[in-house]
Amino acid sequence: MMSLEFTHTTLPPRVLFGSGRGAEHLEAEVQRLSAQRIMVIAGQQELEMARQIAARIDVAMWHDEVVMHVPVEVAERARAAAQEHGIDLLVSVGGGSTTGLAKAIALTSGIPIVAVPTTYAGSEATDVWGLTENARKTTGVDRRVLPQTVIYDAQLTVSMPAELSVASGLNALAHCIDALWAPRADPINAALAGEAIRALGQGLPAVAADGEDVDGRDRTLYGAYLAAVSFASAGSAMHHKICHVLGGTFDLPHAPTHATLLPYVLAFNMSHAPEAADRIAAAFGSSTALEGLQQLRRVLDAPQRLSDLGFTAEGIPEAVEIALAANPADNPRPVTQENLSELLTAALNGDDPHTLVSATGATEGDPS
Ligand code: NAD
Repeated sequence: MMSLEFTHTTLPPRVLFGSGRGAEHLEAEVQRLSAQRIMVIAGQQELEMARQIAARIDVAMWHDEVVMHVPVEVAERARAAAQEHGIDLLVSVGGGSTTGLAKAIALTSGIPIVAVPTTYAGSEATDVWGLTENARKTTGVDRRVLPQTVIYDAQLTVSMPAELSVASGLNALAHCIDALWAPRADPINAALAGEAIRALGQGLPAVAADGEDVDGRDRTLYGAYLAAVSFASAGSAMHHKICHVLGGTFDLPHAPTHATLLPYVLAFNMSHAPEAADRIAAAFGSSTALEGLQQLRRVLDAPQRLSDLGFTAEGIPEAVEIALAANPADNPRPVTQENLSELLTAALNGDDPHTLVSATGATEGDPS
């Protein structure tokens, strides 16, 4: 049983949820925050959505240089632009990369953020920032990067192509599954994670069947938010540590990497984390946690192999070395160079994740 002695933090952003109400909500937030000099950050593909959402506000400047994993030089240019224009509010309209750039500016300037997410990445609900320099992604936690307000409008996610919708939704699922064995896992963030898994398990098949199903989009966005809240509260665990290496050092795309790796980390940990596994299975309504995830992945036609994303066997030793050093010491199953290499090899080739389930369960690594 999870201990009932714990210290829990729930992060405080204001959340406005409403399909088709993004522009109205943004106008109200700009007034509430008395913002005068607004910088709207949106990548090239997100610019049209940003123009719609910002239709009712005065924009001092538009910034569209957005790059995944926020290279330091991209952050520096955006920081300089914000300073030069005397910006007092950052409005990010886009996926996690766009939110990440707003966070990079807030980190050094303290300028508040109103985040309008258009994917299921969930960065808007966390106080985690990430920057990449010399092929190493560094992440940190700082309250200055937590958006003041998050505006969720499911209409903005309708334009995501099916492949991105699936990968991004599974990225959200990785947040809540990894949260269950993360360093600060507690009964409150575990309850949020369970509800997130349930909502994503319902919403994503509807989105995959019909990308214009706004009810499915709403449920998925709700699940993605809860998933990010549970992740922000519980902390980063084994799955995220490996994905940061694959993204930061090997430049693999964020969401598809999470989507591909997740069943391998779940298979690796589940016999050592029976309470988490039971919660995941119950949320999916399946016999086991892995079966629930794999059934969903089959319905979604989810990505299968890291090799399809550009990873190669030559990269495994370096990935293992960096991920092993970053991995939380209290991961449910002891992580070694050997078993992490096995995990990455299986994920590289798209092998059946069941091969990673430990038959010895929680006794493995136990010196007694
Ligand atoms: P992304 O933001 O790079 O977006 C992927 C692509 O989809 C981009 O080309 C983007 O322009 C496009 N796009 C976004 N919304 C769209 C829409 N509605 N319709 C059509 N196209 C759309 O990818 P992502 O997966 O959202 O975010 C990944 C980044 O976010 C990574 O750098 C990751 O590390 C970071 N992240 C950070 C946290 C955190 O807590 N700090 C959490 C999750 C992700």
